[in-house]
Amino acid sequence: QPIITAENLSKVYRTGKIDVPALRNVSFTIESGEFVSIVGPSGSGKSTLFYILGGLTRPTSGHVSIDGSDFSSLTDSERTRMRKTKIGFVFQRFNLLPTLTAIQNVEIAYEISGRKEPLDRAYLEHLTQLLGISGRLQHRPSELSGGEQQRVALARALVTHPAIVLADEPTGNLDSKNSDAVLDMLLRSNRELKQTVLMITHNPEAAAIADRILHMRDGEITSIEAGRGQLAAR
Ligand code: ADP
Ligand code: ADP
Repeated sequence: QPIITAENLSKVYRTGKIDVPALRNVSFTIESGEFVSIVGPSGSGKSTLFYILGGLTRPTSGHVSIDGSDFSSLTDSERTRMRKTKIGFVFQRFNLLPTLTAIQNVEIAYEISGRKEPLDRAYLEHLTQLLGISGRLQHRPSELSGGEQQRVALARALVTHPAIVLADEPTGNLDSKNSDAVLDMLLRSNRELKQTVLMITHNPEAAAIADRILHMRDGEITSIEAGRGQLAAR
């Protein structure tokens, strides 16, 4: 059973008298453990798809299932719980809380997730080592570089062991060196921590690291190709 199923997803934004179609009948499945990127130009519907897959926006029609549960058949609290327990989000703008230190940003994410078991300190240390931010944990976001902030954001997304990592333009605000570091970490979270990763990007080079690349244009998936990840595994 696929971990993510998107079935005939459509989204129309109604802005006054004008209807803006953002997604047109998009369907695909993602298997557990896959690294998939969705690439397309600005305005092609990528962010809309991201928010629908994350249960943050309702599609106009169609269905999303995560691990076999259809979002539309869940109550609001069940959907929120699903989001907190199964999905780790990474955003282009990092979205760290400015008044908290790096480590507090990660800890609070764990608390908010509502897990009963206490945070596994050894795992947290492993994660921050892997991300190369062990020495930066007592700093606030404003004292960190963009690349460091995004790695803290990754630690925040991964600390709850989500089955799925959803990343929306994670390298969009980074220079090429930091982009490479973040992409490498997403690959490692996929390969070493066995997380399913879905990354949205307008950058074809970033997209190419995935197992599979879905190309979007005008709200539709126009083609699917194998990425470097899958080619390397052959
Ligand atoms: P991408 O992430 O690929 O840039 P988006 O999903 O943001 O694409 O946008 C797809 C289309 O939907 C675009 O035409 C965009 O202008 C429109 N759109 C996105 N969000 C809204 C909104 N909240 N209200 C109206 N139109 C929107
Ligand atoms: P609004 O922002 O006007 O409240 P949205 O269209 O953004 O409306 O949808 C938000 C509501 O829809 C939330 O209650 C959310 O949990 C729920 N929702 C989000 N995704 C889905 C989905 N795929 N199927 C059904 N309901 C959803």
